[in-house]
Amino acid sequence: MKIAIDIDSTLHHYWDVLSDAARQRFGIELPYEEQYDWGITRLKEEQLKCVIDATHCEPAILAGRPYPGAVEAVNRWAESGHFVHITSHRSRDCQAATERWLSQIGLRYDELYCSYDKITRCEEIGIDLLIDDSPHNIIAALERGITVATITHPWNQDVVEEEEGVIAAADWPTLARELEAAVAPLRRTRRTGQAA
Ligand SMILES: [Mg+2]
Repeated sequence: MKIAIDIDSTLHHYWDVLSDAARQRFGIELPYEEQYDWGITRLKEEQLKCVIDATHCEPAILAGRPYPGAVEAVNRWAESGHFVHITSHRSRDCQAATERWLSQIGLRYDELYCSYDKITRCEEIGIDLLIDDSPHNIIAALERGITVATITHPWNQDVVEEEEGVIAAADWPTLARELEAAVAPLRRTRRTGQAA
């Protein structure tokens, strides 16, 4: 099957990178536990853009530490023959640094797509499963018949509770187990060790 996987707040804990940049540049705190919706209202639009750009410079990208169990789960699916499309809401200018980070963390994937329109691309290439924390992307993917999973965060609690069929877990080992139980092609057969 074809699996699309977001990077920020999905493969690594991006919030600390973002909140550190907001504090350093503007002296504004962005407490994770208070971020109940997708809008970041403590920053003006141009401040938010500046902060996000800072988090996507090469040193910041390369400093990302993957969530425990994330690389192992994705590599297991890649080894089983699933197509892995890494998709990130960031400029095309970040492509090379992001490729270096993926190589550095040892993640196996088929394609990296840095853009501001993930869901159109997912639809174009026939993605079956999207793993993404953004409530907008979760809803847009569900509307297109794509199975959706996410690491839970304060900003996606509502959509996880309200939308039917979102597979969600607090950490990667649990998410991978739940996906492998719920999405038949991700399940390995005991006999062969191959994807079913
Ligand atoms: Mg994300």
